[in-house]
Amino acid sequence: MSNVDISSIYGSLGIEKRVFDYCQNIEKRLWERYYAIDRTAEYNQLKVVHAMQKNKIGEAHLYPSTGYGYNDIGREGLERVYADTFHTEDALVRPHITCGTHALHVALAGNLRPGDEILSPVGKPYDTLDEIIGIRPSAGSLAEYGITYRQVDLLPDGSFDWEGIRQAMNERTKLVEIQRSKGYAVRPTLSVERIGELIAYIKRLRPEVICLVDNCYGEFVEEQEPSDLGADLVVGSLIKNPGGGLAPIGGYIVGKKEYVEQAAYRLTAPGLGKELGASLGTTASFLQGFFLAPTVTAAALKGAVFAANVFEPFGFPAVPNALEERYDIIQAISFGKPELLTAFCEGIQAAAPIDSYVVPTPWAMPGYDSDVIMAAGAFVSGASIELSADGPMKPPYAAYFQGGLTYPHAKLGIMKALQRIVDIDSKLW
Ligand SMILES: *Cc1c(COP(=O)(O)O)cnc(C)c1O
Repeated sequence: MSNVDISSIYGSLGIEKRVFDYCQNIEKRLWERYYAIDRTAEYNQLKVVHAMQKNKIGEAHLYPSTGYGYNDIGREGLERVYADTFHTEDALVRPHITCGTHALHVALAGNLRPGDEILSPVGKPYDTLDEIIGIRPSAGSLAEYGITYRQVDLLPDGSFDWEGIRQAMNERTKLVEIQRSKGYAVRPTLSVERIGELIAYIKRLRPEVICLVDNCYGEFVEEQEPSDLGADLVVGSLIKNPGGGLAPIGGYIVGKKEYVEQAAYRLTAPGLGKELGASLGTTASFLQGFFLAPTVTAAALKGAVFAANVFEPFGFPAVPNALEERYDIIQAISFGKPELLTAFCEGIQAAAPIDSYVVPTPWAMPGYDSDVIMAAGAFVSGASIELSADGPMKPPYAAYFQGGLTYPHAKLGIMKALQRIVDIDSKLW
């Protein structure tokens, strides 16, 4: 070990000795958890490298295509790498997919026809799906095309309502949408194993139903993905886990060939499908980001575990709590008071490599019924695999915290957040 005193560089970043000492002591108790997270990352790293080698990814795959993008071997190689990593027949991985919401829309709209019904057996989906499905009336929604929607909530203890699901399934049920991460809802994130049980149950009732998993924030958190346990389609965003922090845009859809193709006809046009779509130079960052994604996801997970363990002893409830198993990278911490939520977000912002000098302020946002505060100092605008936090300014004043491209950076963000909080609430210690 070098004799450089690490506390002094923390000092130059505004971390007092007592905050440093407290956090170092917390961290000492977490090495075993971190070790387990690293073992998962190791497994997933090998899975990705294996897929790259199997598909003979070479320098030529890294070059851009323009125009129609016919015969773009980089794009085709990238999609084979995704398909082999998720153990699916096919994949659609494109910079033309704007975000996770768009990927979900493409997968749904491509595979549903008038008269079909969608079932969500895990409660209300992520907010942005309200307008896609037409839960909130919206121009262009699936409801406008005669596609109906049913929902079965989880039971109060978080378990599946097996009987309710059975009753909700009918001859029009074409697709079941299963959201892995809790998003901003108050329910536990689903493990891949539980998703597998749900899919098996649905397939026993109606084998022809398409099981789609919204995999946002879940990729590489476990060794298995929902496609390993029967999901027909798995969908996510490249500015979250699988982009590894390098993808500047994009989304992915992996699954059965037939369903991925239907999605591709919706993304481009009937008759065109996957055959075209210029990569415009994104392929290199998609491939390298996917290569880094297992360890980037591990860094974010360690940051989340660290945050829960740092704040819980002060009496701030953490979801998941300090000891729980993780199935996504999101950490919620309730601060109970608006000024503490603000202080937390200020600390996260102050730790950022980009825009660290900006002070986040609560603001009215479309789609929210209260002001929202957001902290993000990201290389890729809005990327939530980078260290970021946000929270609605209403009880319980919870911060939703995620990301961190490296663990030392996530750790610094949490230490800065704690520093801000003790600065304004001296009675905390
Ligand atoms: C992030 C997310 C989405 C999609 O969000 P975008 O902001 O459009 O990328 C969908 N579902 C869940 C659960 C998410 O976390």
